[in-house]
Amino acid sequence: MIVVKVGGSAGIDYDAVCADIAERFKAGEKLILVHGGSGETNRVAEALGHPPKFVTSPSGYTSRFTDRETLEIFEMVYCGKMNKGIVERLQRLGVNAVGLSGLDGRIFEGKHKDSVRAVEGGKVKVLRGDHTGTVEKVNTGLIELLLNAGYLPVLTPPAASYEGVAINVDGDRAAAQLAVALKADALLLLSNVPGLLKNFPDEASLIREIPAHDVESYLEFAQDRMKKKVLGAAEAVQGGVKRVIFGDARSARPVSAALEGAGTVVS
Ligand code: ADP
Repeated sequence: MIVVKVGGSAGIDYDAVCADIAERFKAGEKLILVHGGSGETNRVAEALGHPPKFVTSPSGYTSRFTDRETLEIFEMVYCGKMNKGIVERLQRLGVNAVGLSGLDGRIFEGKHKDSVRAVEGGKVKVLRGDHTGTVEKVNTGLIELLLNAGYLPVLTPPAASYEGVAINVDGDRAAAQLAVALKADALLLLSNVPGLLKNFPDEASLIREIPAHDVESYLEFAQDRMKKKVLGAAEAVQGGVKRVIFGDARSARPVSAALEGAGTVVS
């Protein structure tokens, strides 16, 4: 079983990702696709007059401040345009894909965090009305039902809070929890970079291997959103996933190339 997470940043070749996945799925590989949509969400939010707001926590993690209106825009893009765009591509390639959010069937569940600590103008402020959280529980029953019936699940945030409220969760960490829950052989985190770069954005500084017991010490190389990927990788390998690969989704055969060792391999 392989869990593939494809991001939502500029340059990602969804046609290439879907073609590669379709070929492998049709050859009998068990696969699940998780996707993001941050770039498109930013564009749509601007167009709707509700521009995105990113906050940085005192420990240096960046996240989207998700008030109710932002959550609704987020759902339009992630569960609508992005999810259905991927499902359509896979259907055209002859794969019976089913697109669901983490809210559907409570596939992804976690605690709702209503407030967030953010550094603004050198001061730490508490912002309320946030609809965010972290995935703590995965409903594998529904996923297995789909896989066993021959469907390819295409999953996306948001998740469901324990009270049934939609919460924005990090896709990389959701994919990591999913990979752990399903005892996946590999988790692929595909984005618009070749992998984890020692000196971002110098692509020649690609880190090729990270020992599983030492992932956290590589956090120092990751800036802003890359930190969540490194954190997700640490959670996955600590949870028993044998290999996590940071791969490039801008080129042909992105899934196969990553599985063949291109990118940064955590094992
Ligand atoms: P996605 O939406 O594709 O999952 P993110 O935008 O959340 O991806 O994270 C990937 C981004 O992280 C890259 O596009 C890059 O701008 C940034 N980044 C920061 N530090 C690094 C690093 N050390 N190596 C690679 N990318 C990095």
